[in-house]
Amino acid sequence: MVGAGFTGLAAARQLALNFPDDEVVLVEAQEVGLGPSGRNAGFAIDLPHDIGAPDYIGDIAVAKIVLKLNMAGQTLLRQQVEANGIDCQMTACGKYQAAVEERGLAVLDAYRGGLDKLEQPYQMIGEQELPQHLGTHFYRRALYTPGAVLVQPSALVKGLADSLPANVTLYERTPILDVDYGYDRTVLTHAGGSITARRLVLADDSFGQHFGFLQGRMLPIFTYGSITRQLTEEEQARLGGKPYWGAIPADPFGTTVRRTPTTAC
Ligand SMILES: Cc1cc2nc3c(=O)[nH]c(=O)nc-3n(C[C@H](O)[C@H](O)[C@H](O)COP(=O)(O)OP(=O)(O)OC[C@H]3O[C@@H](n4cnc5c(N)ncnc54)[C@H](O)[C@@H]3O)c2cc1C
Repeated sequence: MVGAGFTGLAAARQLALNFPDDEVVLVEAQEVGLGPSGRNAGFAIDLPHDIGAPDYIGDIAVAKIVLKLNMAGQTLLRQQVEANGIDCQMTACGKYQAAVEERGLAVLDAYRGGLDKLEQPYQMIGEQELPQHLGTHFYRRALYTPGAVLVQPSALVKGLADSLPANVTLYERTPILDVDYGYDRTVLTHAGGSITARRLVLADDSFGQHFGFLQGRMLPIFTYGSITRQLTEEEQARLGGKPYWGAIPADPFGTTVRRTPTTAC
Protein backbone atom coordinates (compact mmCIF):
# COMPACT_ATOMS: atom_id res chain seq x y z
CA MET A 1 0.00 0.00 0.00
CA VAL A 2 1.43 3.38 -1.01
CA GLY A 3 0.68 6.58 0.93
CA ALA A 4 0.07 6.95 4.67
CA GLY A 5 -2.42 9.80 4.67
CA PHE A 6 -5.97 9.30 5.96
CA THR A 7 -6.87 7.08 2.97
CA GLY A 8 -3.86 4.75 3.25
CA LEU A 9 -4.07 4.52 7.04
CA ALA A 10 -7.80 3.71 6.96
CA ALA A 11 -7.39 1.17 4.16
CA ALA A 12 -4.39 -0.49 5.86
CA ARG A 13 -6.27 -0.72 9.16
CA GLN A 14 -9.37 -2.26 7.63
CA LEU A 15 -7.48 -4.68 5.35
CA ALA A 16 -5.41 -5.86 8.30
CA LEU A 17 -8.57 -6.47 10.34
CA ASN A 18 -10.31 -8.25 7.46
CA PHE A 19 -7.25 -10.44 6.68
CA PRO A 20 -5.56 -11.02 10.05
CA ASP A 21 -3.22 -13.71 8.64
CA ASP A 22 -1.88 -11.46 5.88
CA GLU A 23 0.91 -8.90 6.16
CA VAL A 24 0.10 -5.35 5.09
CA VAL A 25 3.04 -3.14 4.15
CA LEU A 26 2.37 0.59 4.12
CA VAL A 27 5.02 2.87 2.59
CA GLU A 28 5.11 6.63 2.94
CA ALA A 29 7.45 9.00 1.10
CA GLN A 30 7.62 11.49 3.99
CA GLU A 31 7.05 11.22 7.73
CA VAL A 32 3.41 10.65 8.64
CA GLY A 33 1.83 14.02 9.34
CA LEU A 34 3.93 16.05 6.91
CA GLY A 35 1.57 15.56 3.93
CA PRO A 36 -1.91 17.02 3.35
CA SER A 37 -3.54 14.70 5.91
CA GLY A 38 -1.43 16.27 8.65
CA ARG A 39 -1.39 19.84 7.39
CA ASN A 40 -5.00 20.48 6.47
CA ALA A 41 -7.42 22.74 8.30
CA GLY A 42 -8.76 19.96 10.54
CA PHE A 43 -12.48 20.18 9.81
CA ALA A 44 -14.27 16.81 9.89
CA ILE A 45 -17.47 18.10 8.31
CA ASP A 46 -20.84 16.42 8.56
CA LEU A 47 -22.55 18.36 5.77
CA PRO A 48 -21.92 17.92 2.04
CA HIS A 49 -19.27 20.43 0.95
CA ASP A 50 -19.77 20.50 -2.81
CA ILE A 51 -17.83 23.61 -3.87
CA GLY A 52 -18.90 22.94 -7.48
CA ALA A 53 -22.56 23.55 -6.55
CA PRO A 54 -23.84 27.13 -6.09
CA ASP A 55 -25.48 26.20 -2.76
CA TYR A 56 -22.66 23.84 -1.56
CA ILE A 57 -25.29 21.07 -1.32
CA GLY A 58 -25.98 20.13 -4.96
CA ASP A 59 -28.22 17.23 -5.86
CA ILE A 60 -30.43 16.55 -2.85
CA ALA A 61 -30.48 12.73 -3.21
CA VAL A 62 -26.67 12.62 -3.39
CA ALA A 63 -26.40 15.17 -0.57
CA LYS A 64 -28.46 12.99 1.76
CA ILE A 65 -26.16 10.03 1.12
CA VAL A 66 -23.05 12.18 1.61
CA LEU A 67 -24.45 13.50 4.89
CA LYS A 68 -25.03 9.96 6.19
CA LEU A 69 -21.55 8.86 5.07
CA ASN A 70 -19.89 11.89 6.67
CA MET A 71 -21.71 11.32 9.95
CA ALA A 72 -20.72 7.65 9.92
CA GLY A 73 -17.13 8.81 9.23
CA GLN A 74 -17.24 11.17 12.21
CA THR A 75 -18.50 8.34 14.44
CA LEU A 76 -15.78 5.94 13.27
CA LEU A 77 -13.14 8.60 13.76
CA ARG A 78 -14.35 9.37 17.28
CA GLN A 79 -14.25 5.63 18.10
CA GLN A 80 -10.63 5.37 16.86
CA VAL A 81 -9.61 8.49 18.77
CA GLU A 82 -11.20 7.30 22.01
CA ALA A 83 -10.12 3.64 21.73
CA ASN A 84 -6.50 4.61 21.11
CA GLY A 85 -6.33 7.65 23.38
CA ILE A 86 -5.28 9.96 20.54
CA ASP A 87 -4.78 13.47 21.92
CA CYS A 88 -5.81 15.57 18.91
CA GLN A 89 -8.09 18.22 20.46
CA MET A 90 -11.16 16.63 18.84
CA THR A 91 -14.03 19.00 19.57
CA ALA A 92 -17.58 19.07 18.25
CA CYS A 93 -17.82 22.84 17.98
CA GLY A 94 -19.37 23.31 14.54
CA LYS A 95 -18.07 25.58 11.80
CA TYR A 96 -18.53 29.13 10.59
CA GLN A 97 -18.80 29.79 6.88
CA ALA A 98 -17.85 33.46 6.80
CA ALA A 99 -18.09 36.19 4.17
CA VAL A 100 -16.52 39.60 3.66
CA GLU A 101 -17.39 40.58 0.09
CA GLU A 102 -20.62 40.64 -1.92
CA ARG A 103 -19.71 37.43 -3.73
CA GLY A 104 -19.28 35.58 -0.43
CA LEU A 105 -22.51 37.03 0.98
CA ALA A 106 -24.39 35.72 -2.07
CA VAL A 107 -22.82 32.28 -1.50
CA LEU A 108 -24.06 32.32 2.12
CA ASP A 109 -27.62 33.06 0.97
CA ALA A 110 -27.43 30.20 -1.52
CA TYR A 111 -25.94 27.90 1.14
CA ARG A 112 -28.77 28.78 3.51
CA GLY A 113 -31.22 27.69 0.78
CA GLY A 114 -29.30 24.43 0.41
CA LEU A 115 -29.44 23.76 4.14
CA ASP A 116 -33.21 24.42 4.15
CA LYS A 117 -33.50 21.95 1.27
CA LEU A 118 -31.57 19.37 3.29
CA GLU A 119 -33.47 20.27 6.49
CA GLN A 120 -30.28 20.90 8.45
CA PRO A 121 -29.95 23.37 11.35
CA TYR A 122 -27.95 26.59 11.07
CA GLN A 123 -27.65 30.07 12.49
CA MET A 124 -27.02 33.15 10.33
CA ILE A 125 -24.88 35.58 12.35
CA GLY A 126 -24.68 39.25 11.45
CA GLU A 127 -21.80 41.74 11.57
CA GLN A 128 -22.69 43.08 15.03
CA GLU A 129 -22.77 39.70 16.77
CA LEU A 130 -19.81 38.07 15.00
CA PRO A 131 -17.08 39.52 17.27
CA GLN A 132 -18.70 37.69 20.22
CA HIS A 133 -18.05 34.47 18.31
CA LEU A 134 -14.81 35.07 16.43
CA GLY A 135 -13.38 38.09 18.21
CA THR A 136 -12.96 40.01 14.96
CA HIS A 137 -14.88 42.61 12.97
CA PHE A 138 -13.33 41.35 9.74
CA TYR A 139 -16.31 39.31 8.52
CA ARG A 140 -19.66 40.81 7.55
CA ARG A 141 -21.76 37.69 8.02
CA ALA A 142 -21.34 34.02 8.87
CA LEU A 143 -23.45 30.92 8.65
CA TYR A 144 -22.85 28.65 11.62
CA THR A 145 -23.62 24.94 11.34
CA PRO A 146 -23.29 22.91 14.54
CA GLY A 147 -22.34 19.43 13.26
CA ALA A 148 -18.69 19.88 12.26
CA VAL A 149 -15.91 18.40 14.41
CA LEU A 150 -12.50 20.09 14.64
CA VAL A 151 -9.22 18.27 15.16
CA GLN A 152 -5.50 18.96 15.21
CA PRO A 153 -4.88 17.01 11.99
CA SER A 154 -1.20 16.23 12.46
CA ALA A 155 -1.78 14.76 15.93
CA LEU A 156 -4.73 12.78 14.57
CA VAL A 157 -2.90 11.26 11.64
CA LYS A 158 0.17 10.43 13.74
CA GLY A 159 -2.05 8.83 16.38
CA LEU A 160 -3.80 6.74 13.74
CA ALA A 161 -0.41 5.60 12.40
CA ASP A 162 0.82 4.71 15.90
CA SER A 163 -2.25 2.54 16.55
CA LEU A 164 -2.27 0.40 13.41
CA PRO A 165 -2.98 -3.35 13.88
CA ALA A 166 0.04 -5.58 14.50
CA ASN A 167 -0.02 -7.09 11.00
CA VAL A 168 0.63 -3.67 9.39
CA THR A 169 4.23 -2.56 8.94
CA LEU A 170 4.70 1.13 8.19
CA TYR A 171 7.84 2.39 6.44
CA GLU A 172 8.19 6.17 6.50
CA ARG A 173 10.66 8.22 4.41
CA THR A 174 10.39 5.54 1.72
CA PRO A 175 9.33 7.09 -1.59
CA ILE A 176 8.40 4.52 -4.22
CA LEU A 177 10.46 5.38 -7.29
CA ASP A 178 9.31 2.76 -9.77
CA VAL A 179 6.62 0.13 -10.19
CA ASP A 180 6.56 -3.07 -12.21
CA TYR A 181 3.06 -4.53 -12.60
CA GLY A 182 3.15 -8.31 -13.00
CA TYR A 183 0.35 -10.85 -13.49
CA ASP A 184 0.20 -12.06 -9.89
CA ARG A 185 2.62 -9.72 -8.16
CA THR A 186 3.76 -6.10 -8.26
CA VAL A 187 7.31 -4.96 -7.54
CA LEU A 188 7.80 -1.53 -6.01
CA THR A 189 11.29 -0.06 -6.05
CA HIS A 190 12.60 2.35 -3.41
CA ALA A 191 16.06 3.78 -2.72
CA GLY A 192 17.02 0.89 -0.43
CA GLY A 193 15.63 -2.07 -2.42
CA SER A 194 12.23 -3.38 -3.49
CA ILE A 195 8.93 -4.67 -2.15
CA THR A 196 7.07 -7.51 -3.83
CA ALA A 197 3.34 -7.57 -3.17
CA ARG A 198 0.47 -9.78 -4.25
CA ARG A 199 -1.84 -6.79 -4.31
CA LEU A 200 -1.21 -3.08 -4.52
CA VAL A 201 -3.41 -0.33 -3.11
CA LEU A 202 -2.54 3.21 -4.18
CA ALA A 203 -3.49 5.85 -1.62
CA ASP A 204 -1.13 8.49 -2.95
CA ASP A 205 -3.73 11.19 -3.62
CA SER A 206 -2.65 13.36 -6.56
CA PHE A 207 0.48 11.34 -7.37
CA GLY A 208 -1.35 8.58 -9.24
CA GLN A 209 0.28 9.53 -12.51
CA HIS A 210 3.66 8.34 -11.18
CA PHE A 211 2.04 4.91 -11.12
CA GLY A 212 0.61 5.21 -14.66
CA PHE A 213 -2.87 6.53 -13.85
CA LEU A 214 -4.65 9.72 -15.01
CA GLN A 215 -1.59 10.81 -16.98
CA GLY A 216 -1.58 14.56 -17.65
CA ARG A 217 -4.87 15.01 -15.80
CA MET A 218 -3.64 15.87 -12.31
CA LEU A 219 -1.46 18.70 -11.07
CA PRO A 220 -0.37 18.37 -7.43
CA ILE A 221 -0.37 21.77 -5.68
CA PHE A 222 0.94 22.26 -2.14
CA THR A 223 -1.10 24.78 -0.14
CA TYR A 224 -0.29 24.49 3.55
CA GLY A 225 -1.57 26.47 6.50
CA SER A 226 0.55 28.54 8.83
CA ILE A 227 0.38 28.84 12.62
CA THR A 228 0.87 32.05 14.58
CA ARG A 229 2.92 32.12 17.75
CA GLN A 230 0.91 31.46 20.91
CA LEU A 231 -1.10 34.53 21.88
CA THR A 232 -0.41 35.99 25.31
CA GLU A 233 -3.25 36.06 27.86
CA GLU A 234 -3.53 39.80 27.33
CA GLU A 235 -3.82 39.36 23.56
CA GLN A 236 -6.41 36.62 23.99
CA ALA A 237 -8.48 38.80 26.32
CA ARG A 238 -8.26 41.68 23.82
CA LEU A 239 -9.29 39.38 20.98
CA GLY A 240 -12.36 38.07 22.79
CA GLY A 241 -14.79 35.63 21.17
CA LYS A 242 -14.93 31.89 21.72
CA PRO A 243 -11.72 30.09 22.71
CA TYR A 244 -11.96 27.43 19.97
CA TRP A 245 -13.45 27.94 16.52
CA GLY A 246 -12.95 27.37 12.80
CA ALA A 247 -14.12 29.59 9.95
CA ILE A 248 -14.25 28.51 6.33
CA PRO A 249 -14.46 31.23 3.67
CA ALA A 250 -17.83 31.45 1.89
CA ASP A 251 -15.88 32.06 -1.29
CA PRO A 252 -13.89 28.82 -1.82
CA PHE A 253 -10.76 30.78 -2.78
CA GLY A 254 -10.67 32.66 0.52
CA THR A 255 -8.68 31.69 3.61
CA THR A 256 -9.69 29.23 6.32
CA VAL A 257 -8.93 30.50 9.84
CA ARG A 258 -8.88 28.62 13.13
CA ARG A 259 -8.36 29.51 16.75
CA THR A 260 -6.95 26.57 18.66
CA PRO A 261 -6.37 25.90 22.38
CA THR A 262 -3.19 27.17 23.95
CA THR A 263 -1.97 23.69 24.82
CA ALA A 264 -0.11 22.33 21.80
CA CYS A 265 -0.46 18.70 20.77
C1 LIG B 1 -4.48 23.35 2.98
C2 LIG B 1 -5.48 22.21 2.99
C3 LIG B 1 -6.55 22.26 3.87
C4 LIG B 1 -7.50 21.22 3.89
N1 LIG B 1 -8.49 21.23 4.83
C5 LIG B 1 -9.31 20.17 4.96
C6 LIG B 1 -10.27 20.10 6.01
O1 LIG B 1 -10.36 20.98 6.86
N2 LIG B 1 -11.08 19.00 6.08
C7 LIG B 1 -10.98 17.97 5.18
O2 LIG B 1 -11.74 16.99 5.29
N3 LIG B 1 -10.07 18.01 4.17
C8 LIG B 1 -9.23 19.06 4.05
N4 LIG B 1 -8.28 19.07 3.07
C9 LIG B 1 -8.20 17.94 2.17
C10 LIG B 1 -7.52 16.74 2.87
O3 LIG B 1 -6.31 17.15 3.47
C11 LIG B 1 -7.27 15.65 1.83
O4 LIG B 1 -8.49 15.31 1.21
C12 LIG B 1 -6.67 14.42 2.51
O5 LIG B 1 -5.43 14.72 3.12
C13 LIG B 1 -6.48 13.32 1.47
O6 LIG B 1 -5.95 12.22 2.17
P1 LIG B 1 -5.21 11.08 1.36
O7 LIG B 1 -4.72 10.09 2.34
O8 LIG B 1 -6.08 10.62 0.25
O9 LIG B 1 -3.99 11.84 0.65
P2 LIG B 1 -2.70 12.54 1.30
O10 LIG B 1 -2.97 13.08 2.64
O11 LIG B 1 -2.20 13.47 0.24
O12 LIG B 1 -1.71 11.32 1.47
C14 LIG B 1 -1.08 10.73 0.35
C15 LIG B 1 0.29 10.31 0.81
O13 LIG B 1 0.90 9.57 -0.26
C16 LIG B 1 2.29 9.82 -0.17
N5 LIG B 1 2.90 9.49 -1.46
C17 LIG B 1 2.67 10.05 -2.67
N6 LIG B 1 3.46 9.49 -3.61
C18 LIG B 1 4.20 8.55 -2.97
C19 LIG B 1 5.22 7.63 -3.39
N7 LIG B 1 5.64 7.59 -4.66
N8 LIG B 1 5.77 6.80 -2.47
C20 LIG B 1 5.35 6.82 -1.17
N9 LIG B 1 4.42 7.68 -0.71
C21 LIG B 1 3.84 8.52 -1.61
C22 LIG B 1 2.38 11.30 0.17
O14 LIG B 1 3.64 11.62 0.77
C23 LIG B 1 1.20 11.50 1.10
O15 LIG B 1 1.58 11.49 2.47
C24 LIG B 1 -7.35 20.13 3.00
C25 LIG B 1 -6.26 20.08 2.11
C26 LIG B 1 -5.34 21.10 2.11
C27 LIG B 1 -4.16 21.01 1.16
